[in-house]
Amino acid sequence: MAATSDKSKPYFPLAGIAKDGWSNDDEATATCFCGTVQLKFPTHGPGLVDVFICNCTDCRKITASMFASNFVVADTHLTHLRGKENLSTYSQSHTTASGNVMTNSFCKTCGTLMYRVGQGFPGMSILRLGTVDDFNLVETKLKPRVEQFIEDRVAWLGGKEGVEQVEGAAMFKAKR
Ligand SMILES: [Zn+2]
Ligand SMILES: [Zn+2]
Repeated sequence: MAATSDKSKPYFPLAGIAKDGWSNDDEATATCFCGTVQLKFPTHGPGLVDVFICNCTDCRKITASMFASNFVVADTHLTHLRGKENLSTYSQSHTTASGNVMTNSFCKTCGTLMYRVGQGFPGMSILRLGTVDDFNLVETKLKPRVEQFIEDRVAWLGGKEGVEQVEGAAMFKAKR
């Protein structure tokens, strides 16, 4: 179980169709539910820019959940290992707090949202913690640094101790 797994080791539970996710000291994979789309990203700076939770109303709808758990990767350090041609994009600026256009890239087959790219964040992609294949990374190197739009958080969830709490948008800070 994820909760009781040894956090010093990689942990790949049954969580989708692909069985070839991996992680090493510097990099790891993120894969969609059906396995068609797989990304490779760095697990530390400078390629890994930040890790954050967002409760904004836009994130609720786009994730079909109550909040989004995200990590920001510099595009120079993001690799599409497979399935880039199977991504479908949807863009709009009507609901984003900043008014910037956000472009969302989904797997055409299974609908997993792989990343968002925002006009306001040039050169960066905002990936989803839930797509990371090594589940222990989200508790170690990819543990969220900050939680934003806490004023929009559903009342039955609380902020996590040790995670900075911010109303409105937090500025991304580089991980070391
Ligand atoms: Zn898929
Ligand atoms: Zn949001």
